[in-house]
Amino acid sequence: MDAQTCLKKLEYVGVLAFATVDENGAPQIRNISAIHYEPEAMYFFTAKGKAFCKELMTDGRVQVLGYTKYKEMIRLSAKAVPSPETEQRTRIDTIFEEQPYLANVYPDDTRYLAGIVFEITDAEIEYFNLGVNPIFREKYIIGNGQITFKGYTITDACIGCGKCVKDCPQRCIVSGKPYQIQQEHCLHCGNCYAVCPVHAVEKRG
Ligand code: SF4
Ligand code: SF4
Repeated sequence: MDAQTCLKKLEYVGVLAFATVDENGAPQIRNISAIHYEPEAMYFFTAKGKAFCKELMTDGRVQVLGYTKYKEMIRLSAKAVPSPETEQRTRIDTIFEEQPYLANVYPDDTRYLAGIVFEITDAEIEYFNLGVNPIFREKYIIGNGQITFKGYTITDACIGCGKCVKDCPQRCIVSGKPYQIQQEHCLHCGNCYAVCPVHAVEKRG
């Protein structure tokens, strides 16, 4: 798996959930399908008058979520920025060519007056596949995206009792000094953290 394949999979999913935060810090989410993909970028259309546009203009943070029929969750975390003014018309035309239904929503030149295209060129992409055994997860970046770490790790305080191994639903903890979590197979369920008798398991992030 890699970032480019993740973007391709999102393209096949088609309709994605886009989450932002509003001026009160409350989550806001909606479905978007007016999207054009490049190998390492995503461009999407919305209307300038929508709350979505205001949230992107004032905060910019966005999480994009898609779920495939193969039980793959793909989440992209980024800051979206408006495409340069000189590129707006071309970007709108490309998205409308790829999504013909949009011409019914914004016929003729109304699309240029109402519409704006945002772009995501720097992002962290999280891939999480629940359809394989053990489960598989990995993170990638496009552009200058940053990887953030979540889940759990085992510190040198581990005494090797093996309790966490027994209670790990994915059997993804291997013995050693200290024991180690195979991060790519970890559910982030927290069982190891809960059962460790010497608190050797730490949360990441
Ligand atoms: S339960 Fe804690 S001490 Fe025991 S093996 Fe796991 S991490 Fe190490
Ligand atoms: S968080 Fe859950 S899945 Fe991950 S290593 Fe701990 S017990 Fe296993």
